[in-house]
Amino acid sequence: MIVFGWREAKINIEPVSNHSCNYCDTSECLFIQVNRLYAHIFWIPFIPLHKKAYSICGHCKQLVNKNQIPPDLQKKAKKVKQASKTPWWMFTGLLAVILFVLFLSASAFFNS
Ligand SMILES: [Zn+2]
Repeated sequence: MIVFGWREAKINIEPVSNHSCNYCDTSECLFIQVNRLYAHIFWIPFIPLHKKAYSICGHCKQLVNKNQIPPDLQKKAKKVKQASKTPWWMFTGLLAVILFVLFLSASAFFNS
């Protein structure tokens, strides 16, 4: 049995200035968090998929997904999302497969 699926990991978080939380109305405690979805096999990350942006309140912990982020914050969310880099470990499975194939090729070459 092969266990596979996808998970989400936080790749970036940036504070937002001049905004207050829509729920608790606390100012200067909003963050834009960017998560990246990745495909995994046996929980080993294989291929990074798309990014998702959220706004999170540092006070009441309310999490708002991209479609519900207020229009004035959408631009900032998009900017943070584009600037967020994919961490190397999301390619771990792919790198392992490439190294394994290289190892097999090398051993076939040296044994012939
Ligand atoms: Zn709040």
